[in-house]
Amino acid sequence: GSGGLALLGLVPGAPLCPHGPALLFVKTNQRGEEGRRFYACSACRDRKDCHFFQWEDEKVSEASLAAREEYNRNHQPSFTHRQNVERCKDFVLLPLSKRRFCQECQQLLLPAEWEKHSAHQFLCDISTAQLKSPSQLLYPLENKKTNAQYLFADRSCQFLLDLITDLGFRRVLSVGTPRLHEMIQSKASQEEDFRVRSLLLDIDFRYSQFYTEDEFCHYNMFNHYFFGGEAARETCRKFLYQDNGERVIMVTDPPFGGLVEALASSFKKLMAMWKETEKGGHKTQEMPMFWIFPYFFESRILEFFPSFSMMDYQVDYDNHALYKHGKTGRRQSPVRIFTNLTPSMIVLPVEEGYRFCAVCQRYVSSGNQHCEICNSCTSKDGRRWKHCVLCKKCVKPSWFHCNNCNCCALQNHTCDKTDAGCFVCGKAGHKRSTCPSLS
Ligand code: SAH
Ligand code: ZN
Ligand code: ZN
Ligand code: ZN
Ligand code: ZN
Repeated sequence: GSGGLALLGLVPGAPLCPHGPALLFVKTNQRGEEGRRFYACSACRDRKDCHFFQWEDEKVSEASLAAREEYNRNHQPSFTHRQNVERCKDFVLLPLSKRRFCQECQQLLLPAEWEKHSAHQFLCDISTAQLKSPSQLLYPLENKKTNAQYLFADRSCQFLLDLITDLGFRRVLSVGTPRLHEMIQSKASQEEDFRVRSLLLDIDFRYSQFYTEDEFCHYNMFNHYFFGGEAARETCRKFLYQDNGERVIMVTDPPFGGLVEALASSFKKLMAMWKETEKGGHKTQEMPMFWIFPYFFESRILEFFPSFSMMDYQVDYDNHALYKHGKTGRRQSPVRIFTNLTPSMIVLPVEEGYRFCAVCQRYVSSGNQHCEICNSCTSKDGRRWKHCVLCKKCVKPSWFHCNNCNCCALQNHTCDKTDAGCFVCGKAGHKRSTCPSLS
């Protein structure tokens, strides 16, 4: 309940951890006063995953710097991307009976390596089809504080891809969306008239075993760091430049653990990279983008991307018990698509209960009623919301107006005097840990 951490961001000359440049943070106390600044890992919010820490004003000795460099080198993957690509080439030449995948090391094995992994669990007879669906072969890295790898349910992935192709896009920059990338890659290899191409940017290096350097870049989306250096950055740039930068869309589904400003700053850099493609300098648009994120981050995303709007479509996941579709009797997914495309272009499936609101000019959930007073379809979570005349806006059906707080809240909330906005929803009256959006 006391103070917190504020992100100051990526600053020039920041020290490096194995995950690229560290981010600068500052501790704040209850009164919001800033304390000492420090650098911490951008990718891992748990010190167990990356223990890098340095005070901003700390004097680091030559010896510790050398030790750190050595440490960073030793914490890189044991094979380079190039080596993994070569290994995969050798692997596909093997007869089925010799194709093994080590489940403990999450690695394709060549026969000469069997011995070293003999005590490990492995899968046999790895088929070409399996090699084309690495997201099924690899186990999802669910560690919430680092990878938070939640894979799209097939129907959500299919929906996204159909939407992308119907909108006429030809290239997808897949940032942290390995399953979408995989669906595109396998369709491209199977259907001759399927013209969409994808480049995957992800921190999960296991994917380098299945994709070439033109199909995958080892990338950290919290500090816009290409682990493969200038060559990898160039691959990304070239991908965006093709076809004069036309018909490309970026799709991203980052871990939800916060640091929205770090993500936004990286995405702006990717957008800037695309913008450099404009030949006459007259293109004022932004690179089209789908940012997949929970609805309660709406105000945070709009802070950084005012041109974005949130779609009602509920994105479902395979390995996330809570985020499956409502129709199956489970909880509804809070995950939505934020986009800078015109909302009316995003056609949502009527058979899944979405309808078009002619006033709002966008597709909405069937439960989302158009409010005459707000003059918009105001529900964020798919349930029917109610209008509060005192708040002058629609609120969740479970909320009541509290005269103490002078706003609507859950009936059993504790009237709190904190005036600093909540980290998650930006509203006053509560902290992140008790944010009603998360309950
Ligand atoms: N729904 C998506 C997966 C989203 S899970 C799909 O099915 O394709 C989040 C993804 O972001 C994971 O693939 C994870 O490896 C990746 N990721 C996590 N932290 C990252 C970081 N710092 N930089 C880049 N990618 C990251
Ligand atoms: Zn780190
Ligand atoms: Zn409406
Ligand atoms: Zn209203
Ligand atoms: Zn109210």
